[in-house]
Amino acid sequence: MEQSKKFLLTEKDIPTAWYNVLTDMPVKPAPILNPSTREPLKAEDLYPLFAEELARQEFNDTDRWIEIPDEVREMYKIWRPTPLVRARGLEKALDTPAHIYFKNESVSPVGSHKLNSAIAQAYYCKKQGVTNITTETGAGQWGAALSLAAKHFGLELAVYMVKISYHQKPYRRSIMQTYGAEVVASPSMSTKAGRKIITDHPNYQGSLGTAISEAVELAMSTPNCKYTLGSVLNHVSLHQTVIGLEAEKQMEMAGEYPDVVIGCFGGGSNFSGISFPFLRHNFSGERSTRFIAAEPLSCPKLTRGAFKYDFGDEAGYTPLIPMLTLGHNFAPANIHAGGLRYHGAGSIVSRLKTDGLIDAVDIPQLETFKAATLFAQSEGIIPAPESSHAIAATIREALKAKEEGVRKTLLFNLSGHGLIDMAAYDQYLAGDLANYEVSEADVAANTADLMEAK
Ligand SMILES: *Cc1c(COP(=O)(O)O)cnc(C)c1O
Repeated sequence: MEQSKKFLLTEKDIPTAWYNVLTDMPVKPAPILNPSTREPLKAEDLYPLFAEELARQEFNDTDRWIEIPDEVREMYKIWRPTPLVRARGLEKALDTPAHIYFKNESVSPVGSHKLNSAIAQAYYCKKQGVTNITTETGAGQWGAALSLAAKHFGLELAVYMVKISYHQKPYRRSIMQTYGAEVVASPSMSTKAGRKIITDHPNYQGSLGTAISEAVELAMSTPNCKYTLGSVLNHVSLHQTVIGLEAEKQMEMAGEYPDVVIGCFGGGSNFSGISFPFLRHNFSGERSTRFIAAEPLSCPKLTRGAFKYDFGDEAGYTPLIPMLTLGHNFAPANIHAGGLRYHGAGSIVSRLKTDGLIDAVDIPQLETFKAATLFAQSEGIIPAPESSHAIAATIREALKAKEEGVRKTLLFNLSGHGLIDMAAYDQYLAGDLANYEVSEADVAANTADLMEAK
C-alpha cells in the first residue's frame, strides 16, 4: 500500500458558521406547499413538526452564514476536524495522472457524516424544551447518529427503521439501542400509516418514505415531541457544510483546488455538505468546478426522475416539495446502499441539477462493490456501500483523465465506513449480488399524477 498523505486541521479550524447556499443561488427553489391548499408554507407552519429554529433555518434565504452554537461546536470537537487524504494508493492502483483526495467523514463515532446534523437538531430541540424526538432510518446510520445526539442532550428517541435494513443490518439496531434509543421495524402496527401498508402489502420490506410517515405521525400525535430528518431538507444540508468548509482549507494546505467534487446521493446531505462551499466560488465566477452526485442505477432520481411537486414520504404527510422524484410510492430494489434508497432529491439540489449547475451519474451495484474493494485494498478503509457510489464515480473520472492524458484534481466525500456492512461484502464476494435498473415507463407511471414543479 502506498503512503497516502493526510491533511490535518486543529480544533480552532472547525467552522464557526454553516454556509447557507440558498443566499447565493441564481434561481432559488420554489417554496414548499401545503398539500391541501397548495399555498406556499412559512416557517411557522412547520413549528408543530420541527424545532422552531430548524424550521426557521429551512426557510432562511437571507443569512449567508449561520452561526454554529457553542454546544454544537463542542460536540463536533469529539471527531472534527476530519482528515482530508490524498489517496496515493488508489491513484497508483489506477495508474492515473489524476490527483485524488477524499474527505474522511467515516471517522465520526458512529462511522458516518450524519452526526454533523444529528447534534445540531438534537441541540435545537433541547433548547426549546422538547422532551421526545422521532425519526426514521434506512441503513441505520442516521438513527445511530441521532441516538448518540439524543442521549447527549437528554432526549427520548423513537426510531422507525426500514424493515429490510432492520433484518439485513441487525447490528445497526443494536448500536441505536446501546445509545438508548427505541427502535421499531417499519412498516409497523404502531401507526395508521404502517397498519395501512401492512394490510395492503403484507410482505412489504419498507422504504424510507414509509418510515418517515410513521415517525411524522408519532410526532404529530405525541405531546412535546418533534420529528427530525437526516437528509433532503435545507437545514440538514446546511449543517453538513462543515464538511466542505474544512475541505476547502485542507485543499489549500495541499496547494490544490478540485476540478471535480463528488459525493454519493441519497437525499443529498453529504453531497451538499462537500459541494456547497466549493459551489459558492462557481456562483461568484472565480471557479468552474464540476460537481457530480453519484446515485444508484436502481434509484436514479437525479438522472431519470421527473421534476414535480412530491411528498417526502409514502403516506403523503409532508409538505409538497419541488423535487426530482421517482414518485413517493416508488419501491426501490433491495440494494445494499440502504441510505440511497430514497425516491426524491431535496429542493435545492433539484433546482441546481435542473439549472445545469451540478451533474449526476447513476451507477450499478456491482460497479460500486468493485470500486469499494479496490479502495479497501489500496487505501485500507472499507467504505460504506453508499460511499462506494462516490468512489466508483471518482474512479470513472480518474480513468477518463488517464485516457485523455490530463492531470485533474478530484475530491470526493467518504461519507462513511462499511465495517457494519460486511454481510453485503460477503454477498458480493460470493457472487450473489445483482444490478437493478428502473425503466423509464415505471418512472413515468409513478410520477404521472404529480403536479409539475417550477
Ligand atoms: C445516509 C448516508 C448516505 C446518504 O444520505 P445523503 O443525505 O444523500 O448523504 C450516504 N452515505 C452514508 C454513509 C450514509 O449514512
